[in-house]
Amino acid sequence: MIRFDYQRPDDVASATRAAHVGAAPLPEVRFLAGGTNLIDLIKENVERPTTVIDINRLPLAQISALPDGGLRLGALVSNADTADHAEVKARYPLLASAILAGASPQLRNAATNGGNLNQRTRCYYFYDTATPCNKREPGAGCGAIGGVNRIHAILGASSDCIATHPSDMCVALAALDAVVNVSGPDGERQIPFADYHRLPGNEPWRDNHLQQGELVTSIDLPPGDFSGHYTYLKLRERLSYAFALVSVAVALKIEDGKLLDVRIALGGVAHKPWRVAAAEALLNGQAASPELFQQAAARMLDGAVGQGANDFKIELARRAIARALAQAVAATPQSQSDKRIA
Ligand code: SF4
Repeated sequence: MIRFDYQRPDDVASATRAAHVGAAPLPEVRFLAGGTNLIDLIKENVERPTTVIDINRLPLAQISALPDGGLRLGALVSNADTADHAEVKARYPLLASAILAGASPQLRNAATNGGNLNQRTRCYYFYDTATPCNKREPGAGCGAIGGVNRIHAILGASSDCIATHPSDMCVALAALDAVVNVSGPDGERQIPFADYHRLPGNEPWRDNHLQQGELVTSIDLPPGDFSGHYTYLKLRERLSYAFALVSVAVALKIEDGKLLDVRIALGGVAHKPWRVAAAEALLNGQAASPELFQQAAARMLDGAVGQGANDFKIELARRAIARALAQAVAATPQSQSDKRIA
């Protein structure tokens, strides 16, 4: 049995205060929201918190309009309610589609937006405490390197960790240039989505740039309408309830036959959603063509390296990027109810 101190504050300031002694964060403090990942990790003895702060009473369960025309998604809004929100469906259908591509209806009802950002990798070795894992136990080694690594990273990995981030929602948030609002003992700050998650480097136990004891309070979507040309294409071992081997989020505009404001983000390939500015620049201002899509895919995958069992992901990603761009340009986004790929 893992014994921990349990607290259930009513406001954000109390929650962040409870995560600290004076200015110092408690070492093994965890915030509990939907619990769809954290509770599993505690049961598996992967997470061993000494303090659990239940944040479900905090006033963070709203979706509200921002003065600049954007939309603020509260950290405690469920993934299901976010995907079903009228403004999200109307202006950010890429986000709704990515959310609906993930998990199951039951999990999406319980899982929260803040928790989705902070979920841990699904690397098999991370969950198996009988095997070495630098993310779970710094300095222990990496069982996946030279091991079973079919689901692992082809981009941005290190010699310490080749894990991927498992979220679908985050791939869409990366493409939309969302901003993460966090609160800590020094007040509030904003983190551009591109800077929120991190690559493993030689500190793979750090998934993101949150400070210990900081709390995600909301996620801001930019003003505008991203409903014209988009798609979320997810390739996986089976058609539902499986994490992405490769996924692609695309949003773009078309004016006078030219592609504009192109955004491409990959999931399932790295420790964070993967964007490459040079690949998007290659497309901006150009007329769509299969040849151009192939060039952009090649640029997206610059530096991709397989680990043996996941070598296939490089070719799979190349084809998925080209397919997703074609879907977005044709305004025929991937259906998440009929998941057959058009
Ligand atoms: Fe652990 Fe990362 Fe290696 Fe998986 S890939 S075993 S999470 S260090």
